[in-house]
Amino acid sequence: MSARLVLLGPPGAGKGTQAVRISGRLEVPAISTGDIFRANVAEQTELGKRAQRYMDAGEYVPDEVTNAMVRDRLAQPDAVPGFLLDGYPRTSDQVAELDGMLSDDGQRLDAVVELTADTDEVVTRLLKRASEQGRADDTEPVIRRRLEVYAEQTAPLARLYADRGLLVQVDGIGEIDEVTDRILAALTPKLG
Ligand code: ADP
Repeated sequence: MSARLVLLGPPGAGKGTQAVRISGRLEVPAISTGDIFRANVAEQTELGKRAQRYMDAGEYVPDEVTNAMVRDRLAQPDAVPGFLLDGYPRTSDQVAELDGMLSDDGQRLDAVVELTADTDEVVTRLLKRASEQGRADDTEPVIRRRLEVYAEQTAPLARLYADRGLLVQVDGIGEIDEVTDRILAALTPKLG
Protein backbone atom coordinates (compact mmCIF):
# COMPACT_ATOMS: atom_id res chain seq x y z
CA MET A 1 0.00 0.00 0.00
CA SER A 2 1.41 3.41 -0.83
CA ALA A 3 1.08 5.97 1.93
CA ARG A 4 2.55 9.38 2.65
CA LEU A 5 2.44 9.93 6.36
CA VAL A 6 3.76 12.22 9.09
CA LEU A 7 4.17 11.19 12.70
CA LEU A 8 3.91 14.07 15.20
CA GLY A 9 4.29 13.98 18.95
CA PRO A 10 6.46 15.25 21.79
CA PRO A 11 9.92 13.85 22.49
CA GLY A 12 9.44 10.57 24.32
CA ALA A 13 5.96 9.86 22.91
CA GLY A 14 7.33 6.78 21.15
CA LYS A 15 7.49 8.07 17.59
CA GLY A 16 10.71 6.24 16.71
CA THR A 17 9.48 2.90 18.06
CA GLN A 18 6.14 3.17 16.32
CA ALA A 19 7.57 4.57 13.08
CA VAL A 20 9.63 1.41 12.52
CA ARG A 21 6.61 -0.82 13.16
CA ILE A 22 4.16 1.16 11.05
CA SER A 23 6.64 1.45 8.20
CA GLY A 24 7.08 -2.33 8.24
CA ARG A 25 3.35 -2.92 8.12
CA LEU A 26 2.66 -0.37 5.39
CA GLU A 27 5.87 -1.12 3.45
CA VAL A 28 7.08 2.45 3.24
CA PRO A 29 10.43 3.70 4.56
CA ALA A 30 10.49 5.35 8.00
CA ILE A 31 12.48 8.55 7.70
CA SER A 32 13.61 9.96 11.03
CA THR A 33 15.32 13.35 10.88
CA GLY A 34 16.69 12.77 14.41
CA ASP A 35 18.29 9.46 13.33
CA ILE A 36 19.77 11.03 10.20
CA PHE A 37 21.21 13.90 12.24
CA ARG A 38 22.63 11.52 14.87
CA ALA A 39 24.28 9.36 12.18
CA ASN A 40 25.86 12.49 10.69
CA VAL A 41 27.07 13.64 14.11
CA ALA A 42 28.59 10.21 14.75
CA GLU A 43 30.45 10.36 11.42
CA GLN A 44 31.31 14.04 11.91
CA THR A 45 30.12 14.95 8.40
CA GLU A 46 29.68 18.64 7.51
CA LEU A 47 25.95 18.27 8.18
CA GLY A 48 26.66 16.63 11.54
CA LYS A 49 29.03 19.43 12.52
CA ARG A 50 26.40 22.04 11.68
CA ALA A 51 23.63 20.23 13.56
CA GLN A 52 25.40 19.07 16.69
CA ARG A 53 25.41 22.20 18.85
CA TYR A 54 21.67 22.72 18.33
CA MET A 55 20.88 19.11 19.15
CA ASP A 56 23.03 19.10 22.27
CA ALA A 57 21.16 22.18 23.53
CA GLY A 58 17.70 20.76 22.77
CA GLU A 59 17.12 23.40 20.07
CA TYR A 60 15.93 22.77 16.54
CA VAL A 61 18.50 22.61 13.79
CA PRO A 62 17.91 25.62 11.47
CA ASP A 63 15.12 25.07 8.95
CA GLU A 64 17.29 25.55 5.88
CA VAL A 65 19.62 22.74 6.99
CA THR A 66 16.78 20.37 7.87
CA ASN A 67 14.70 21.17 4.80
CA ALA A 68 17.59 20.51 2.41
CA MET A 69 18.33 17.20 4.11
CA VAL A 70 14.70 16.04 3.87
CA ARG A 71 14.42 17.15 0.26
CA ASP A 72 17.40 14.94 -0.61
CA ARG A 73 16.05 12.01 1.35
CA LEU A 74 12.58 12.16 -0.20
CA ALA A 75 14.14 12.17 -3.65
CA GLN A 76 15.69 8.72 -3.05
CA PRO A 77 13.92 6.03 -5.08
CA ASP A 78 12.61 4.12 -2.04
CA ALA A 79 10.66 7.19 -0.84
CA VAL A 80 9.00 7.96 -4.16
CA PRO A 81 6.05 5.57 -3.71
CA GLY A 82 5.52 6.58 -0.07
CA PHE A 83 7.11 7.34 3.29
CA LEU A 84 6.55 7.81 6.98
CA LEU A 85 8.23 10.96 8.27
CA ASP A 86 9.21 10.87 11.94
CA GLY A 87 10.32 14.20 13.38
CA TYR A 88 9.55 16.33 10.33
CA PRO A 89 7.91 18.80 9.86
CA ARG A 90 8.47 20.45 13.25
CA THR A 91 7.98 24.13 12.35
CA SER A 92 5.47 25.96 10.17
CA ASP A 93 8.28 26.78 7.73
CA GLN A 94 8.97 23.05 7.42
CA VAL A 95 5.27 22.41 6.76
CA ALA A 96 5.37 24.86 3.87
CA GLU A 97 8.57 23.30 2.51
CA LEU A 98 7.12 19.81 2.67
CA ASP A 99 3.99 21.02 0.89
CA GLY A 100 6.25 22.38 -1.83
CA MET A 101 8.32 19.19 -2.14
CA LEU A 102 5.16 17.11 -2.53
CA SER A 103 3.27 19.39 -4.87
CA ASP A 104 6.33 19.61 -7.15
CA ASP A 105 5.69 15.91 -7.77
CA GLY A 106 1.90 16.15 -7.78
CA GLN A 107 1.68 14.38 -4.42
CA ARG A 108 0.07 15.09 -1.07
CA LEU A 109 -0.02 13.67 2.44
CA ASP A 110 -2.55 10.97 3.28
CA ALA A 111 -2.56 11.52 7.04
CA VAL A 112 -0.74 13.03 10.01
CA VAL A 113 -0.69 10.90 13.16
CA GLU A 114 -0.28 12.76 16.43
CA LEU A 115 0.96 10.45 19.16
CA THR A 116 -0.05 11.94 22.50
CA ALA A 117 1.53 11.46 25.94
CA ASP A 118 1.52 13.72 28.98
CA THR A 119 4.61 15.56 30.15
CA ASP A 120 5.26 13.46 33.26
CA GLU A 121 5.17 10.26 31.23
CA VAL A 122 7.51 11.54 28.52
CA VAL A 123 10.03 12.94 31.03
CA THR A 124 10.08 9.57 32.82
CA ARG A 125 10.60 7.70 29.55
CA LEU A 126 13.36 10.03 28.36
CA LEU A 127 15.26 9.83 31.65
CA LYS A 128 15.04 6.05 31.46
CA ARG A 129 16.32 6.11 27.89
CA ALA A 130 19.15 8.40 29.05
CA SER A 131 20.33 5.83 31.55
CA GLU A 132 20.07 3.00 29.00
CA GLN A 133 21.38 4.58 25.79
CA GLY A 134 23.28 7.64 26.98
CA ARG A 135 21.89 9.93 24.29
CA ALA A 136 23.60 13.33 24.61
CA ASP A 137 20.30 15.26 24.56
CA ASP A 138 18.57 13.15 27.23
CA THR A 139 19.75 15.07 30.30
CA GLU A 140 16.98 16.61 32.38
CA PRO A 141 17.59 20.30 31.50
CA VAL A 142 17.88 19.46 27.80
CA ILE A 143 14.74 17.29 27.96
CA ARG A 144 12.84 20.22 29.53
CA ARG A 145 14.09 22.51 26.78
CA ARG A 146 13.09 20.02 24.04
CA LEU A 147 9.59 19.84 25.51
CA GLU A 148 9.34 23.65 25.60
CA VAL A 149 10.47 23.97 22.01
CA TYR A 150 7.98 21.26 21.03
CA ALA A 151 5.12 23.07 22.79
CA GLU A 152 6.01 26.40 21.17
CA GLN A 153 6.87 25.37 17.64
CA THR A 154 5.53 21.90 16.87
CA ALA A 155 2.37 21.30 18.92
CA PRO A 156 0.55 24.05 16.92
CA LEU A 157 1.09 22.04 13.72
CA ALA A 158 -1.53 19.53 14.87
CA ARG A 159 -4.22 22.19 14.54
CA LEU A 160 -2.99 23.19 11.12
CA TYR A 161 -3.21 19.61 9.86
CA ALA A 162 -6.56 19.12 11.63
CA ASP A 163 -7.90 22.06 9.62
CA ARG A 164 -6.84 20.22 6.48
CA GLY A 165 -8.70 17.12 7.63
CA LEU A 166 -5.47 15.09 7.84
CA LEU A 167 -4.97 14.72 11.59
CA VAL A 168 -5.55 11.52 13.54
CA GLN A 169 -4.76 11.57 17.26
CA VAL A 170 -3.62 8.39 18.95
CA ASP A 171 -3.00 7.83 22.66
CA GLY A 172 0.67 6.88 23.03
CA ILE A 173 0.27 5.45 26.55
CA GLY A 174 0.04 1.67 26.80
CA GLU A 175 1.81 -1.45 25.58
CA ILE A 176 3.88 -0.95 22.42
CA ASP A 177 1.76 -3.47 20.44
CA GLU A 178 -1.43 -1.85 21.61
CA VAL A 179 -0.29 1.58 20.43
CA THR A 180 0.75 0.13 17.04
CA ASP A 181 -2.71 -1.41 16.64
CA ARG A 182 -4.35 1.88 17.56
CA ILE A 183 -2.31 3.74 14.96
CA LEU A 184 -3.08 1.22 12.22
CA ALA A 185 -6.76 1.29 13.10
CA ALA A 186 -6.81 5.10 13.06
CA LEU A 187 -5.09 5.14 9.67
CA THR A 188 -7.37 2.63 7.94
CA PRO A 189 -10.07 5.13 6.94
CA LYS A 190 -7.41 7.57 5.69
CA LEU A 191 -5.66 5.05 3.48
CA GLY A 192 -8.80 3.80 1.78
P1 ADP B 1 13.03 13.75 19.99
O1 ADP B 1 11.79 13.40 19.22
O2 ADP B 1 13.30 12.78 21.09
O3 ADP B 1 13.10 15.19 20.40
P2 ADP B 1 14.65 13.34 17.61
O4 ADP B 1 15.50 12.13 17.63
O5 ADP B 1 13.48 13.35 16.71
O6 ADP B 1 14.30 13.62 19.11
O7 ADP B 1 15.55 14.63 17.26
C1 ADP B 1 16.70 14.93 18.00
C2 ADP B 1 17.18 16.36 17.66
O8 ADP B 1 17.43 16.47 16.24
C3 ADP B 1 16.16 17.47 17.94
O9 ADP B 1 16.16 17.89 19.29
C4 ADP B 1 16.67 18.56 16.97
O10 ADP B 1 17.80 19.23 17.46
C5 ADP B 1 17.08 17.76 15.75
N1 ADP B 1 15.95 17.64 14.80
C6 ADP B 1 15.30 16.51 14.45
N2 ADP B 1 14.32 16.78 13.56
C7 ADP B 1 14.34 18.12 13.35
C8 ADP B 1 13.57 19.02 12.58
N3 ADP B 1 12.56 18.60 11.80
N4 ADP B 1 13.88 20.33 12.61
C9 ADP B 1 14.89 20.79 13.35
N5 ADP B 1 15.64 20.01 14.13
C10 ADP B 1 15.39 18.68 14.14
